[in-house]
Amino acid sequence: MKIVGLFGHPVSHSLSPMMHNLAFEKMALPYRYFAFDINPDQVKQAVDSIRVLGIRGVNVTIPYKETVIPFLDAVDRSATMIGAVNTIVNDGGKLTGYNTDGQGYVMSLEEELNVNVQDLDIVILGAGGAARGIIFSLLEKNARNIALYNRNKERAEKLVAEFDKEQASKIMVIHDLEQLHKYHLIINTTPSGMYPNVNETPIDIAYVSPSHLVSDIVYNPLMTKFLKQAQTKGATIHHGLGMFIYQGAIAFELWTGQKPPVQEMYKAVQTHLIKQ
Ligand code: NAP
Repeated sequence: MKIVGLFGHPVSHSLSPMMHNLAFEKMALPYRYFAFDINPDQVKQAVDSIRVLGIRGVNVTIPYKETVIPFLDAVDRSATMIGAVNTIVNDGGKLTGYNTDGQGYVMSLEEELNVNVQDLDIVILGAGGAARGIIFSLLEKNARNIALYNRNKERAEKLVAEFDKEQASKIMVIHDLEQLHKYHLIINTTPSGMYPNVNETPIDIAYVSPSHLVSDIVYNPLMTKFLKQAQTKGATIHHGLGMFIYQGAIAFELWTGQKPPVQEMYKAVQTHLIKQ
């Protein structure tokens, strides 16, 4: 039996154990996924325990995505650029950090909306960690044009400056939402609308038109107020559950070398969220 799991604090609410264990069971793979609640002053010991106990790998969640990095043996290109690790793989004692969040988001978007990001002009709302990962992955997939809107404009400018010159030339900070009609896809990467602030929206719905694709990475609730309003306006919508499922699916493949049953994972997590 091989062990994988989650390091975070808190972790009791996490849907990752249910999702991964379901996939292991369906594929009859000899793995079990456990959630480990790690004390803030024991992050190094927790990472060392991966080697000591022969754990195959872990996901890393809030608040340790950055703090685990110094204790790893290697960090891949995306996690280095994003400055955060959400997946660790243990290859015979060598620990490598990856970040599958942005890639998971782009996979979910392209699969679920049947689009190619190369064909889209995109507006990102928010300039935090999630935005950084998503922008990196969009650029890796040759997105042609990205506009970044954040209520704190300086933070958006700082984020653009973190990318190399060629990448940064494709990102424009905007502060005038009147321009939104020029873009095909609007992605909310802010926590606005997330439980318990379910009555918040990141921007005024007046800026959204029926031709927009509107994507929200929040998945608690699945249908945020922003998505509900966008749907009422006739826009095509995409919620944040797929990002969660695909970031997990990529981690699963890094640990096992096999592709998990994404549709079954999606259905199980969605049913769980709807029941909540
Ligand atoms: P973060 O680093 O704290 O950044 C949050 C960003 O949102 C900042 O740019 C902040 O703007 C902006 N913001 C916060 N509250 C806002 C509000 N009420 N109205 C407008 N803008 C607001 O957070 P993060 O790590 O990027 O995570 C953001 C969200 O993504 C969270 O809700 C998280 O749950 C979700 N997420 C989902 C998945 C998934 O699998 N679906 C994965 C990762 C994250 P200022 O700079 O002005 O403060």
